[in-house]
Amino acid sequence: MTTHYQTLRIPKEASGELVKRSYRSLVKVCHPDQFPSGSKAQGEAEERIREVNAAYAVLSNPRRRAIYDAKLNKEATPHPEPKPEHCDKCGKPTGYWHTSKNVALCRACGRAAT
Ligand SMILES: [Zn+2]
Repeated sequence: MTTHYQTLRIPKEASGELVKRSYRSLVKVCHPDQFPSGSKAQGEAEERIREVNAAYAVLSNPRRRAIYDAKLNKEATPHPEPKPEHCDKCGKPTGYWHTSKNVALCRACGRAAT
């Protein structure tokens, strides 16, 4: 997956000023008007400019950037938080954080099964 930072070719800790500078230079380089009308290069430039605009819309807004960063950090975590398992029968949380059993059952269903 390409991150907005990769799209704008900046490090994750880039300042707002660098975000803006990089955006402006990329817009210049990728501007579809620079390519022959209807050419493949122009189509690619349009696609690229869309990504650059989308990345800039997020990274130029401190609030949206903070939300995006939090999401990136979460995805980068190698061991995500364990989720409570849900009962195979009734779908209620079993209350176990992890079970080595193949079938997760809540207490009520576990009792009924025995
Ligand atoms: Zn159950």
